[in-house]
Amino acid sequence: MEKGILVPNEITVQMVLNKLSEPESQSGVILDGFPRNLGQAEALDEAFEKENKKIDSVVYIKVEEQELIRRLSGRWVCRSCQSPYSIKGALTEEQKKCSKCGGELYQRPDDNLETIKNRLKVYFNETAPLIEYYRNTGKLVEVDGEGEVGEITQRIIKALREKA
Ligand SMILES: [Zn+2]
Repeated sequence: MEKGILVPNEITVQMVLNKLSEPESQSGVILDGFPRNLGQAEALDEAFEKENKKIDSVVYIKVEEQELIRRLSGRWVCRSCQSPYSIKGALTEEQKKCSKCGGELYQRPDDNLETIKNRLKVYFNETAPLIEYYRNTGKLVEVDGEGEVGEITQRIIKALREKA
C-alpha cells in the first residue's frame, strides 16, 4: 500500500467477506475504497450471489484530477488522535499542531507527489472502468465532489434518498 500498488484480489475479497459475516454487519455496510477493479467487483458479485447479499447503490464522487492532487498532497494527520487535516502549501509551526488535542501533525509516507500520481494512474487504469460497470447495473449514483465536506455529504444523502 505504501508504494501505491494494489493488494491481490483474492486476499481483499476474502477480508471483505469475513467482515461482512460478523454480527455488526448484518444490517448493512458501506464499503469505502473497495472494490477497486473489475476483478474485485466480479468476485464480489459472485460471492454475494452465493450468500444472498446485494449491493444497493454505488456512490461515484466526481472530482477533477487537479483537485484530487491538491487534496491528496494537502493531507495531514495528527500523530496522537489521528484527526485528518487538509491544508494547502507549507505549514507554519502553529498549523503543525492538532486543534483538538495539541498533537503533532505529519504527512503519511504515501502522500508525496510521485506516489499520488502513481496512485491516480492506478485509479484511472484499474478503478475508473467500474463507473461503467455499475452504471450498467443501474446502481450508480453520481455526486459532484467539488466543494466543502458538509455540502458534499448533503449531496450524497440527497442522491441516495432520491434513488431509494
Ligand atoms: Zn490530535
